[in-house]
Amino acid sequence: MARLSRRSFIKWASMVGALGAYGCSANLSALREKSVKARIAVVGGGFAGASVAKYLKMLGQNLDVTLIEREAVYLSCPGSNEVIADLKRLDELRRDYDILGNSQGIRIVRAEINAIDADRRAVLLTDGSAVPYDRLIVAPGIDFRWEEVDGYDEKASLSVPHAWKAGPQTLLLQRQLRAMPNGGVVLITAPANPYRCPPGPYERASLIAHFLTRYKPRSKVLILDAKTRFSKQELFLHGWKELYPGMVEWISAEREGKIDRVDAESRVVFTEFNEYRADVLNVIPPQKAGKLAQSAGLTDESGWCPVDPRTFESTIVPGVHIVGDACTAPPMPKSAFAANSQAKVCAAAVIDLLQGHEPGPPSLINHCYSFLQPDYAISITGVYEYSPIEKQLTATSTGETPMDGDRRKEAEHARNWQKVIAAEAFG
Ligand SMILES: Cc1cc2nc3c(=O)[nH]c(=O)nc-3n(C[C@H](O)[C@H](O)[C@H](O)COP(=O)(O)OP(=O)(O)OC[C@H]3O[C@@H](n4cnc5c(N)ncnc54)[C@H](O)[C@@H]3O)c2cc1C
Repeated sequence: MARLSRRSFIKWASMVGALGAYGCSANLSALREKSVKARIAVVGGGFAGASVAKYLKMLGQNLDVTLIEREAVYLSCPGSNEVIADLKRLDELRRDYDILGNSQGIRIVRAEINAIDADRRAVLLTDGSAVPYDRLIVAPGIDFRWEEVDGYDEKASLSVPHAWKAGPQTLLLQRQLRAMPNGGVVLITAPANPYRCPPGPYERASLIAHFLTRYKPRSKVLILDAKTRFSKQELFLHGWKELYPGMVEWISAEREGKIDRVDAESRVVFTEFNEYRADVLNVIPPQKAGKLAQSAGLTDESGWCPVDPRTFESTIVPGVHIVGDACTAPPMPKSAFAANSQAKVCAAAVIDLLQGHEPGPPSLINHCYSFLQPDYAISITGVYEYSPIEKQLTATSTGETPMDGDRRKEAEHARNWQKVIAAEAFG
């Protein structure tokens, strides 16, 4: 695997920041010339579902595309750590479906999906109606493995937030930080891989430290981690030393970071040898594919949906594609950038398949920014190529912000990227 040089990384990062999200190497304009008719149902209107619906319609104007989503508006997780740290308002994370519905010609159905009937090729809604399809794309995001953290479940999350889905949980954690005493402890528990947004817990710890530095400077952020390593680790550790000396402590799985039990009422976390009392407790539980993917029989023993990343078609249920966090496409991480990149590959492949063509081997991209404070950000990038023999992706080049990189410039790129990914998926 090639490592991007410092110079190439800087050039690459500024391109991504300025232009936003890249997708795949499919020849999109060539596909657009051809017209194909079919009914496509897209289930879940997050970054993955919205992007795939949009690109299907862009590439195949005669397609009848229906996007089914339970919420009236989408709240973006990228940017939600900034809301927690009082740097953004929650309504800034709001993404509407109006443009997709009115200008892109996608039929938006606001409904809770009950089940998928793959034999009858229909999506069954809780109101008793059904949406028939010729091809189905499933993008329900994640669900939590509540059973894996003793003492922590959905009810406990009403007082001890996970804040791993943007919305009321984000505001609950924000309120608790505002109310905590100066000199208190914020305790974050980070799950084992794989989970949504690998650098997310560490960006959160950083921005909370930024908040504490301003308002409660005698306080501390403690991370108990079920892992021994984490994404952009050296860059985060370096940044914490530089920006928040003595304030952020990371305890890895090797040093009893793995938690045994949570007492949500008293906000105490138990590890093998110790107990940690928190003023604000943020438990990020282990994860799996969204409930719908499980009930539709699209998941394997890992809890995620295996796919052939050439088309993102399920390797369990033919004719059904899964994109975004719910699918497993290693070594791609679970991110909004990756979801958008997968959506483009999937849309192009679905059109190829409908036309009776063999989809070509795709290339995919991921680029993830993390803020350590508003004018200090770092990023990681990866390019993934499809190997037809293994039917898997391989990271062909990767890179990270260089140690002497310009963090202020990266923060600018990160802010641009947040705007562009929103327009990419929902615009
Ligand atoms: C704190 C945090 C920070 C992050 N920061 C970044 C970042 O900086 N960059 C980045 O690239 N990624 C980031 N991410 C990751 C990113 O949010 C996810 O990877 C992305 O949201 C995945 O998109 P998705 O469409 O697969 O899932 P989701 O965004 O969860 O969308 C799934 C949709 O399906 C709908 N749905 C599910 N089941 C049903 C049903 N039965 N009926 C109807 N609708 C249903 C849901 O309502 C939801 O709208 C972050 C995540 C977190 C938690």
